[in-house]
Amino acid sequence: MLGIVAALPQELGDLIADMRAAGDIETVTLGQRDYTIGDAHGVRAVVTLARIGKVAAAATASALIHVFDVDAIVFTGVAGGVHADVQVGDIVVAQTLLQHDLDASPLFPRFEVPLLDKSRFAAAAGLSDALALACEAFLADQGDALQNRFAVVRPRVHRGLVVSGDRFVASHDELHALRGVLPDALAVEMEGAAIAQVCFEYGVPCAVVRTISDTADAAAPASFTEFLTAIAGTYSSGILSRFLRSRV
Ligand code: SAH
Repeated sequence: MLGIVAALPQELGDLIADMRAAGDIETVTLGQRDYTIGDAHGVRAVVTLARIGKVAAAATASALIHVFDVDAIVFTGVAGGVHADVQVGDIVVAQTLLQHDLDASPLFPRFEVPLLDKSRFAAAAGLSDALALACEAFLADQGDALQNRFAVVRPRVHRGLVVSGDRFVASHDELHALRGVLPDALAVEMEGAAIAQVCFEYGVPCAVVRTISDTADAAAPASFTEFLTAIAGTYSSGILSRFLRSRV
C-alpha cells in the first residue's frame, strides 16, 4: 500500500477521480481527514490531504503508517523556489529535507532535530528516481504545451535539498536569509521535512515532489494563488499518473 499525500486539493489533480473511475474506492475519516483507498493507476494506494504545515503533515504521516499500514509515502505539491536556478514551473524532487525554522541553539546546532542528532533527512532513492523519471517524461510530453498555456519558461527538473517550515516565505529579506544559511536549498514549503522525519523514525521510505508555484519573494502570494488554481493540478496529474504506472 502506497500513501499519497498533498496539502491542498488542487495539488492532487485528478487522482481521486481517476481512482473512482478505476473501480471501488473506500473512504475512511480520521482526525478530520478523509483517506481514500483504492486503485491509483494500477497501484493500491491511500490518498489524503494533510492540510498545511508541519504538525498537520506529521500527524498525517503517522496515521498513514499506523492505521493504514503504508509501505511508503509520496508527497506531491507546490513550493517556493529558493535557489536562483529554480523558476516558476520547474519541478523539484527532494534528495534531502530539513526544517529551516527548527532552532534549539545553542543547546543543539541550528536546524538539528534535538535528540535525533540529525538535521537532514534523506528521501528514498528508488522512489525519488522513479518520481524524477516521471517528471522528465511529463515535461518531455507536455513541456511545450505548458509553455504555451501558462507562460512558464522551459520547465526543468531539479534534485536536491527541500526545506520546510511553518511560514509562507514571501519577502526578499526572508528569501535571502534562507539562501545565506542554506545555499544548497532548492525550494521552500511547509510539510515535506516533517513527513521525512516521521518516516525516518519509523523506517518507512518517503519521497517528495514539488512544482514551483512562486519564488518566495514579494510576488509569491499572487504567483502561488494563480499557479495553484490554474496549473498545479495539471502537473500533479501528469507526474503522478506516470509515476504510478511505472510502479506496476
Ligand atoms: N493562503 C494559502 C496558504 C498557502 S500556504 C491558502 O489559501 O491556502 C502555501 C502552501 O504551498 C503550503 O502547503 C506550502 O507547502 C506550499 N508553498 C508554496 N509556496 C511556498 C512559499 N513561498 N513558502 C512556503 N510554502 C510554500
